[in-house]
Amino acid sequence: MDMTARDTRFGGTAGAASGYLTIDLAALARNYEKLAAALAPARAAAVVKADAYGLGADRVAPRLYAHGCRDFFVAQFVEALRLRPLLAADARIFVLNGLQPGNEAACAREGIVPVVNSLDQWRQWAEAAKALGRRLPAVLQFDTGMSRLGLPPQDRKALAGLLAAEGGIDVLFAMSHLACADEPDSEQNGDQLAEMSRIAKEFPGLDLSFANSGGIFLGPTYHGRLARPGIALYGGAPTARRQNPMEPVVSLDVAVVQTRTVPAGARVGYSGIHVTTGETHLATIAAGYADGLPRSLSGRGAVYCDGVRLPIVGRVSMDSITIDISALPEGRLTLGSRVEVLGPHQALEDVARDAGTISYEILTGLGHRYHRQYR
Ligand SMILES: *Cc1c(COP(=O)(O)O)cnc(C)c1O
Repeated sequence: MDMTARDTRFGGTAGAASGYLTIDLAALARNYEKLAAALAPARAAAVVKADAYGLGADRVAPRLYAHGCRDFFVAQFVEALRLRPLLAADARIFVLNGLQPGNEAACAREGIVPVVNSLDQWRQWAEAAKALGRRLPAVLQFDTGMSRLGLPPQDRKALAGLLAAEGGIDVLFAMSHLACADEPDSEQNGDQLAEMSRIAKEFPGLDLSFANSGGIFLGPTYHGRLARPGIALYGGAPTARRQNPMEPVVSLDVAVVQTRTVPAGARVGYSGIHVTTGETHLATIAAGYADGLPRSLSGRGAVYCDGVRLPIVGRVSMDSITIDISALPEGRLTLGSRVEVLGPHQALEDVARDAGTISYEILTGLGHRYHRQYR
């Protein structure tokens, strides 16, 4: 597919948009298969929260199902409700944040599995099972040292009592989440693994789910029975400062909306923070912080054309960014030309680094004005 060709279906550029987001579902599927192979005999789930990290859960989840994935994690119940009709009945959907009080009946009816993070949630789910006169599935989440979600150590005794009392709940597996999985040298990984082993001893017979993307690359002791990759599926690097073994899934091209040549001493953009030191060729492109390119890229980031780095000059605006195109032959970029924001020359991690954030925030922030193309 020629990304630079104009799409004339709408009498102009595709979908009337001026930014073009391409999501490579075949690359996504290869990433899933790569992780599944690395994990065997453990299984690979898919974390599709936040609309599959911004890529579209309605496209991502069915595609992964077709490649053998049967376990899907979302963060919020509302996401599970939206996903449920898109997947066959043998796909399991888990709600990481657990249930808000009052959602139990709908959760049971829709066949969605809550992650139980507290004794209260356990009791409410057990009550729902009793009221419905049937057994209900659940996942137990334990806090192994992140202090975010899950049953804290001091509640484990009471939980064991509730489990023994036969509350009408089938526990499918126990899970916990790693705080530093992308940092293989962090001591916290070993601490959390030791805590997980204690939990496995206290609750014998339960399958374990521990590893996110980074955790998979910490080795088999972290794999449990079911790993929960998110970012690696979408092409993000699972481990910091290491070569990324995953295939890129997302590329982003943005159109030029104006070009100009300014003399030395010209101020560029809001607040005039950038002043040219010599004659400069500039282009303004049609994406800004409202499209998920953070304002912290002001004067730091870059885009690419023909592999040439074109630095961002001045402030990132809401709807546009101005770039210095002096390094290109004159006339190379004109109205309607496209530049690469994410692609072969610039990875997610590069943009994230320049913006002072992480790939996750860049992906989930990618805006809604882009023309989205799946292939
Ligand atoms: C988001 C999340 C994941 C996926 O993490 P990645 O680092 O994107 O692989 C796994 N487990 C839990 C509990 C999460 O919140």
